[in-house]
Amino acid sequence: MLEPGGAIGILGGGQLARMLALAGARLGLKSHVFSPVADDPAFDVCAAKTQAAFSDEAALAGFAEAVDLVTYEFENVPAATAAFLQARRPVRPNPSVLALTQDRLAEKQFLERLGVETAVFASVENAGALARAVAQIGRPSILKTRRLGYDGKGQITAPDGADLAVAFRALGGASCILESFVPFAREVSVVAARGEDGSFAAYGVCENVHQRHILNVTTAPAAIRPETAAAAVAITRRIAEALDYVGVIAVEMFVVEQAIGPPWERLVVNEIAPRVHNSGHWTLDGAATSQFEQHVRAIAGWPLGSTRRHGRVEMRNLIGDDVHNWRNILAEDGACLHLYGKKEPRPGRKMGHVTKVFAERE
Ligand code: AMP
Repeated sequence: MLEPGGAIGILGGGQLARMLALAGARLGLKSHVFSPVADDPAFDVCAAKTQAAFSDEAALAGFAEAVDLVTYEFENVPAATAAFLQARRPVRPNPSVLALTQDRLAEKQFLERLGVETAVFASVENAGALARAVAQIGRPSILKTRRLGYDGKGQITAPDGADLAVAFRALGGASCILESFVPFAREVSVVAARGEDGSFAAYGVCENVHQRHILNVTTAPAAIRPETAAAAVAITRRIAEALDYVGVIAVEMFVVEQAIGPPWERLVVNEIAPRVHNSGHWTLDGAATSQFEQHVRAIAGWPLGSTRRHGRVEMRNLIGDDVHNWRNILAEDGACLHLYGKKEPRPGRKMGHVTKVFAERE
């Protein structure tokens, strides 16, 4: 167990690391951020920093020496980096979840073994496998690279008639999976935490609207049936327990409406994020404990906090040029503005977010 005054090492220096470091500081902990990128947003707010490549063993050794435990803000931490650090300090969540969540095929197979519904999927290693996968899954379907895909990068939706071989080549011939297109009514996610002692606390299910594959708006609670919400939380708990997970985890799911039920709504899991998640940013202003504090508590071996919501909450991402609106947002009654300190508002770049909390019936 970590004592106040202890040091948490964070791999990655983006906005998630920044908000983790701020939450840690509030609890009297020091954060040491390790990132290869010189002007990463977390460097502004941490007690110590290392700017070095994830393959730089001398830098990693110094980092490990300086911290009590290590966590990460992104799932694409190289396996060798995680193993190097794990030999020196506790790494939470356990890096075994990285292997799973870095590979869409391994992730889907894990979910299948757990009995959790996913899109129908098939491994695609070459043109022949692609033709067989299309024959099995049909159209429309989605071709995704197994690795290094996020915010819709590395995936191509193949409508009826589209030439999937062209799509496969467009993805560089990398190992892929083909997934059936899920005709979802809404996208939801569950952000939850599991402690070292097996304690578990989930935030209510929230609903996510994406634009061009990037999260745009999250609302909590999701407009789904109570039994669907309970099932979504139960699935998340089952996943966290199967992974012997410690920390905050997010599970993204599709809700499919059925004309014949019950259940009237079916849940199809899309993705597991072994970290704090954009769809949990609303908890900073809208819940008793933020997801960032919750993650710090969990990895430090401290009691988990209350996940009680303060009301109905809406979180909107500020993407690219949206950030220029900061003055107007500040003038809006009840708008809570968070800016990540990034210099250049490039298209598709998450620059900040704004949260509003409403009375439950407003
Ligand atoms: P992902 O990169 O897997 O998180 O996918 C990004 C977004 O693409 C999701 O949030 C969905 O909006 C959409 N998407 C991904 N997979 C599917 C699928 N199998 N069926 C329908 N939409 C999908």
